[in-house]
Amino acid sequence: MSTLYPWQGSDWARLQHSRASQGLLLHGQRGTGKLALAVCFAKSLLCEHPDSEGHACGKCSACGWFEQGSHPDYRLVQPESETEENESGKKASRQISVDQIRALSDFLGMTAHQGGRRVVIIYPSEAMNVNAANALLKSLEEPPEGLLFMLVTHKRHALLPTIVSRCISFALATPDVATATRFLEKEGVERPFDALAANGFSPLDALQNAEGNETREKLLRALQQKRMDVFALAEVLQKTEQAQVVQWLQQWSHDLLSQKLAGRLRYHPGREKLIADLVAPLDALDLARLQNVLKTAKREARHTLNPKLFLESLLFTYCQLVKPCHS
Ligand SMILES: [Zn+2]
Repeated sequence: MSTLYPWQGSDWARLQHSRASQGLLLHGQRGTGKLALAVCFAKSLLCEHPDSEGHACGKCSACGWFEQGSHPDYRLVQPESETEENESGKKASRQISVDQIRALSDFLGMTAHQGGRRVVIIYPSEAMNVNAANALLKSLEEPPEGLLFMLVTHKRHALLPTIVSRCISFALATPDVATATRFLEKEGVERPFDALAANGFSPLDALQNAEGNETREKLLRALQQKRMDVFALAEVLQKTEQAQVVQWLQQWSHDLLSQKLAGRLRYHPGREKLIADLVAPLDALDLARLQNVLKTAKREARHTLNPKLFLESLLFTYCQLVKPCHS
């Protein structure tokens, strides 16, 4: 469940003046928790007993439904690639389609179950294609009573001007460096200021990439050992996007071959000795085969239905080509 981030206190307080709004455009820097803020606000509007600062009580039945994702007066519209409605096997779209906006019409035509507010969040709003945006325009012009449209974006300039003009623009604060650094420190990110700077001063990107770095480090450690526990490693890796894992393996295999043929590393500076020892007994042809396997895997990574199985099979192939392993 979303909660506010430490840099969002003043945005939250300002937002309370917009509780009666019908169209809000929340915009601000990427990776700063805009959607989390919007979701908190939606929950608060639907809550039966928000507190004096506007926070949802977390105890009423409306809060209960909201937390279970089943509140009848709330809709979150996102590209299909962000949701799990991706079982048909076709490529999940990164756009918000006109069909998704049209699918709202039944919802818009109803009255609130709880006799109060209703909320639609569209995130990221710039993902609406032109048809979707045009389909939304009419509803934005004449929003049903009690309904709030919240458009959330970090690319305000990419929205149709007609959409922007029908909403009240609400600029979200950029987190100040001290608050963001403290946040990262609390989350256990090493060298939090460096991490923040390396991620364009976006604290959530810094946090996400820090987790990624930790996973990559675990993968590299496993690849350097003589024996690999494929099942345990796949368990750890399945939480990361598959394409990302394959890319790490591609970088690794690139350096194995590069070390073998030219004595050079590109992606793993500082590990020269270790990788040189590792590739000494290996056949360059097997390393080239590994690169081909990974190239194919990269294409398949987006369509895997079972990430763990996908990774296990990939790691076993790796072991066959590169090293002995056990499980
Ligand atoms: Zn409540």
